Amino acid sequence: MSEHEEIESRRRFLKLAAGTAVVAAVIGSGLPRTARAQDLPHVAETDPTAKALGYVEDAATTKDAKHQVGDACSSCQFYSGGASGYGPCQIFPGKAVNAKGWCVSYSRKS
Ligand code: SF4
Repeated sequence: MSEHEEIESRRRFLKLAAGTAVVAAVIGSGLPRTARAQDLPHVAETDPTAKALGYVEDAATTKDAKHQVGDACSSCQFYSGGASGYGPCQIFPGKAVNAKGWCVSYSRKS
């Protein structure tokens, strides 16, 4: 192998190694985050914090006077999940709330 071929071979190896590192970093940072959000335990209405905040799984069932028609976790600034199902809420760290839920800490996303 000539010196030129050896240098080209090293360049190809370094490019491949760099590309592999980028792919590993993307997979390492993206997939576990998604998996974690889906795996969060759901907030129960019987949870002491949930009770104190009047959290309900279905906003339509609350009798709290602060609730306005249409308000639900999915439109709250503390919610970071999808429009349906469950997602993380900053008020309940490490747990997920129902997108259709509601509590007295509700604050509409701006
Ligand atoms: S703070 Fe917002 S997202 Fe969290 S439970 Fe209350 S209404 Fe739902």
